[in-house]
Amino acid sequence: MIQSNFHTHCDYCDGSGKPEDVVEEALARNFDILGFSSHAPIASEPEWTISEADLPVYLKHIDELKAEYAGKLEIWKGLEIDYIEGVSGPSSEKFLKLNLDYAIGSVHMIKSLEIHKFLAVDGPEAHLIELIEDVYGGSMERVSDKYYSLICEMAEKGGFDILGHLDLIKKRNRDNRYFNEDEPWYRKQVLNTLDYLKERDIVVEVNTGGISRGATDSVYPSPWIIREASVRKIPLMLNADSHVPEHIDFYFNEALQIISECGYKELHTLQGSGWTSFPIEI
Ligand SMILES: [Zn+2]
Ligand SMILES: [Zn+2]
Repeated sequence: MIQSNFHTHCDYCDGSGKPEDVVEEALARNFDILGFSSHAPIASEPEWTISEADLPVYLKHIDELKAEYAGKLEIWKGLEIDYIEGVSGPSSEKFLKLNLDYAIGSVHMIKSLEIHKFLAVDGPEAHLIELIEDVYGGSMERVSDKYYSLICEMAEKGGFDILGHLDLIKKRNRDNRYFNEDEPWYRKQVLNTLDYLKERDIVVEVNTGGISRGATDSVYPSPWIIREASVRKIPLMLNADSHVPEHIDFYFNEALQIISECGYKELHTLQGSGWTSFPIEI
């Protein structure tokens, strides 16, 4: 079966290890394909993204690795691009003109009450609490509704191939601290989002990064969502969201089992001349 990971961070953003270190790790694990997806620059230049100045350096670096490892490992040049309401996103001209091989579109942040201040749903728990208590009147349902609305908005505008960690909103929800995924309002928000993604042919990733970083006990998105995606025949891929080279296939065997039990028989990938699918072998 094809071994790959398209959600890979390195030392250009908030990951560790040079791109070469990740490539060597991929070769050691018999990978066929490796896609780099550093966090695209955002205006406030936080520590976790590539800086605007480093972006061309990163893109050139990945191009050089592509050439250097041709025949041994298929390397793709991508970015994980944030959708920031009213500011920028995967469909922004500055990203479209980069001619990336692929882009992951992700929502991490929601507007706060202060101008130009955004709060991360996967950041410090205090950010999520501020969103719930100060911005959305104590209602987790409204925060979640906003989060999934932003995903749909991003999908509407396009400019990306893979939707990053669909239910990232659950990152701080261990032991159902803030909501229960069985609640009808939550299920409705998720199912509406899946319908929306299906219409736009967006690939959804199963992302093991929450587990490797000790934040969640299960993959993004939760198995019941993968099952619903399978019913809708939404193309799926398996990604690690790795921030250290050794995590490029973290929890992949277990995730493949889950994906298969949820009804998927094949996974999507970018290979050779374009997007294609291959059968899951367990
Ligand atoms: Zn992300
Ligand atoms: Zn990521």
